Amino acid sequence: MTYLDELGEFGLIGRIGKQFSVPRGMTGIGDDCAIIPQKNGMDTLVSTDMLIEGTHFLREDANPYDLGWKSAAVNISDIAAMGGKPVATFLSLALPKDIDTAWVDGFISGYRDLSAVFSCPLLGGDTTASPDRLCINVAVLGECPSGKAKKRGDARPGDLICVTGPLGDSAAGLKVILGGMERDADAEKLVRRHYRPMPRVKEGRALAALDGVHAMMDISDGIGSDLRHILEASGTGAEVDVVAIPLSPELAAVCTREGWDALDCAVSGGEDYELLFTAAPDADLSCIAHTKIGRITKDTALVWKGSGKDFQGFRHF
Ligand code: ADP
Ligand code: MG
Repeated sequence: MTYLDELGEFGLIGRIGKQFSVPRGMTGIGDDCAIIPQKNGMDTLVSTDMLIEGTHFLREDANPYDLGWKSAAVNISDIAAMGGKPVATFLSLALPKDIDTAWVDGFISGYRDLSAVFSCPLLGGDTTASPDRLCINVAVLGECPSGKAKKRGDARPGDLICVTGPLGDSAAGLKVILGGMERDADAEKLVRRHYRPMPRVKEGRALAALDGVHAMMDISDGIGSDLRHILEASGTGAEVDVVAIPLSPELAAVCTREGWDALDCAVSGGEDYELLFTAAPDADLSCIAHTKIGRITKDTALVWKGSGKDFQGFRHF
């Protein structure tokens, strides 16, 4: 039987993880980053992410600059998800032989410009020819004060569930791209949110400094799926107030015009790269923009209050 039929994505990762024991003090598979304690009062954070042509992007649609930007952004977002500061990235490219130099230059410009926002240098990587598809792998290193990284498994019953910004723009932007639609200013903004996500590093670091903030992750697959990761890791459930989920005016405008379900984009669509976190009700969160969308419950069910639907997030397989 294929790994896909037998195990699925998370079953496969679990099967790999079972073969290795994690040294004491380290955090391995299961969070946005691995955590490796250092002797200087800091923890090192490490993550890696792959983008494959045909799965994560279409070469004819994505311009190389945007793809370079996004490749760096989605990785640095995993550092933000832990509340860390990005330190450096490593870039590996498998390039089909028909890629021209201008394409590579565009890609690297986008990668450089996003990296510059966070003063995060590229320190190495690997390059190889690919017989067919373009494949991009980035590894990112970050750091945070010892023991301060926010994990997925620390949500507590009674916590508020919050997000750092509007959801669904990226998913709607992808619909605009794939539908080949004509773009007004609103649609253009959604497309930009899809191609040029901005990792919430500043917000993540501010949240990491607050003891009242418990669990955190970045929203890569949509809260329908990502919130489940927090719930499973924490052994809790949640009630989400569907009407409280923040939607941008651009998303509302385009969805009304096209007859799309904005909520479906916000919950089931991925790649917003906002932060999803839980916090004690008395935590002072005034240092960052955020919206409360629900609460963590002892009961392990996930309830979408104000909607008859049972939302799922984006599935990779
Ligand atoms: P994210 O959405 O934040 O990128 P993923 O869902 O891709 O996280 O991965 C979930 C967890 O599984 C992470 O901790 C990641 O490091 C781990 N993981 C994924 N694939 C593998 C693999 N092939 N081997 C070991 N660990 C893996
Ligand atoms: Mg992540």
